[in-house]
Amino acid sequence: MIRNHYEPEHEQFRDAFRRFLEQEVVPHSARFREQGMIDREVYRKAGEAGFLLYWADETYGGSGLQDFRYDQLMYEEVTHALETSMWMGALNRNSPPYIAKFGTEEQKRHYLPKLTSGEMICGIAMTEPDAGSDIAGFKTRADRRADGTWVLNGQKTYISFGLTAELFVVAAKTDPDNPRALGLFLVERSMPGFRNGRKLEKLGYHSQDTAELFFDNIELSPLHVIGDPLRGFDYMRLGLAEERLGSAAQSLPFAVEAIRLAVEFTTGRKAFGKRIADFQNTKFKLAELQTEVYATQAFLDHCVRLFNAGQLDPETAAACKLKATEVQARAVDECLQLHGSAGYMQEYPICQLYADSRIARIFAGTSEVMKIVLAKKLVG
Ligand SMILES: Cc1cc2nc3c(=O)[nH]c(=O)nc-3n(C[C@H](O)[C@H](O)[C@H](O)COP(=O)(O)OP(=O)(O)OC[C@H]3O[C@@H](n4cnc5c(N)ncnc54)[C@H](O)[C@@H]3O)c2cc1C
Repeated sequence: MIRNHYEPEHEQFRDAFRRFLEQEVVPHSARFREQGMIDREVYRKAGEAGFLLYWADETYGGSGLQDFRYDQLMYEEVTHALETSMWMGALNRNSPPYIAKFGTEEQKRHYLPKLTSGEMICGIAMTEPDAGSDIAGFKTRADRRADGTWVLNGQKTYISFGLTAELFVVAAKTDPDNPRALGLFLVERSMPGFRNGRKLEKLGYHSQDTAELFFDNIELSPLHVIGDPLRGFDYMRLGLAEERLGSAAQSLPFAVEAIRLAVEFTTGRKAFGKRIADFQNTKFKLAELQTEVYATQAFLDHCVRLFNAGQLDPETAAACKLKATEVQARAVDECLQLHGSAGYMQEYPICQLYADSRIARIFAGTSEVMKIVLAKKLVG
């Protein structure tokens, strides 16, 4: 299927990003997996090369390119290179937009240039041990003092970049009498009262650091409060739509790569005197998956263009995430099956795609939550 989604400038950016991966990431891949994280220095270099917050205004060090396709193509490239733990899109889209969209001029001037250059990277801290999907169940609290400053107490878990990020956007309850009062706060690793808990061992994404965070009486000035501290739910509704589009853009390339790997494997291996690819089952599976990928790619590319035009609503973003992650799951599973036991071995790339993909139907909102979001629009 001809995909007329990218322009020549995107392809130039793609070439530059591919070279960056080849030079800075691929040669160190095994070590990154072993140590459970990509070297922090890699993100500094990514910032220098213009891959971080390229969308930020030039005043804040970015290129002002309001075009999600650059994140989309970076996800395609990391998956193609099997450097799936390199979550450029998450760094660009999951937390900095809260500062850019809802922050004050002072906050933007203070943080965005550091995030653009890679001097700082920013994680998003929402999930808690007792509340993930149920945002209203968060226990982390920010209490306002008489002088207008805040004190933050609580705990977050499963936080991406939990060990490497210097900054986190943290969601916390702001009024004990109002369960829907939620604020978003900027918490720096260097602040007294911040500490990491365990580094969490995962099924996949072995070079991605995921960790627990603890906040003990962290004192926050107005510089650390994003927007209205009672309106975090509204901000997150918009922010999560962007994160979900990112999750869809991260997931579909897995299906593309899984099919490519399965074609390569099944045309090279024989059983019962035939290539595996010659069995009708193989052909039908591959054709079905390819059809799913074509249809989902068209939907995803359309959602990206809607986002660029400021027209992507949270429900359509949820549908896109749901569809892309479910196609991803089916493709990696069925393409692993076509590999036989080889697919279960670490030395075959489909094995890593299978392990890394499992979380996609859970994080950034589970498939069930995506259905709830969409169904609410349909039937209330
Ligand atoms: C690798 C990784 C990275 C992550 N990165 C981050 C991060 O950077 N920041 C962050 O804040 N979080 C992060 N998370 C956490 C992730 O977003 C949450 O775990 C996820 O939203 C689900 O929450 P939960 O685990 O509490 O599941 P729960 O909410 O407890 O859900 C358990 C099950 O119940 C289902 N369920 C829940 N409510 C309903 C309902 N109303 N109807 C039907 N079914 C329901 C869910 O769909 C799920 O199947 C990460 C997780 C992982 C594994």
